[in-house]
Amino acid sequence: MTRLAALTQDQLNTEVMHARARTRMGRLPDYVPLLAKANPDWIAVWVQPLHGPTCAAGDVHQPFVLMSVVKPLLLVFLLEQLGQRAVFAHVGMDPSDQSFHSLSQLRADQGFPRNPMINSGAIALADLLPGRDGTSRCETFRQWLNQISGSQLVLNEPVLASVRSLPNEANRAIAHLLAESGHLRSVEAALDTYNQICCLSGTVEDLAKLGVVLAGGVGKFKPQNSPLTPQNLRIVNALMLTCGLYEFSGRFAVRVGLPTKSGVSGAMLSVVPGQGAIACYSPAIDAAGNSVAGLYLLEQLAQTLNLSIFG
Ligand code: GLN
Repeated sequence: MTRLAALTQDQLNTEVMHARARTRMGRLPDYVPLLAKANPDWIAVWVQPLHGPTCAAGDVHQPFVLMSVVKPLLLVFLLEQLGQRAVFAHVGMDPSDQSFHSLSQLRADQGFPRNPMINSGAIALADLLPGRDGTSRCETFRQWLNQISGSQLVLNEPVLASVRSLPNEANRAIAHLLAESGHLRSVEAALDTYNQICCLSGTVEDLAKLGVVLAGGVGKFKPQNSPLTPQNLRIVNALMLTCGLYEFSGRFAVRVGLPTKSGVSGAMLSVVPGQGAIACYSPAIDAAGNSVAGLYLLEQLAQTLNLSIFG
């Protein structure tokens, strides 16, 4: 039995109870009006081992939009479709100590996005998705994700309308600089595609199923059935570990040691390579844009179960 599969339901219930007490230490994002309407007390976790029983606790039926948790999924899709050379011609692989929507980071890098886990990198990659417009690109991508993982992601139209209701000057400035430096074909199409894929929505169960694919298994959870090449999985996991939580990534790698990605919706996904995945949702976030209760819960689980990939 793997260390992840050793988790008991009682243990998880206790951890969620403690984590729920932390939700009030975070804040809801205010730049997407519908995200600001979430209940800050919500917390859900789904632990899906490759082999072994599922454990889940909290508000597990509450759907949420992926926001930036979509970034590693976008990366793996493009690696599979286009290959490494084409992808890394448009995005780097170095960590950043700036916030996820930093324009100054992109300026310092002469318009070449530093990594795929920050907005500049994901906007550049969104422009590479095949399809004639944002809607068809998002739909192709959504269907692929559901097909490889068995998840049931849907596009959350009200949240997309809410994203569109306020101008996102930071992302627009990033897109213009990317276009000027030759890393974007169309500012409008890239931003629209990016906004749409950020609004793909599911539950912690769906997110955990996607995480299981990144952990090296799918279907009956046999790693040899993985629809993704091992090399692409290594790339995505390495970039989640080094860049997935923005400026907090280094400290999290030391304290938790799991490839992890967050989104401003409060979604979080940790991959336990070769063992399974942990998906969390709790909408109150910290200054870096990471779920406060999610960070706490992942740290507790990683320490209790000794999950760090570094042993
Ligand atoms: N769509 C969001 C944005 O661009 C995603 C950012 C995030 O989740 N960190 O601001």
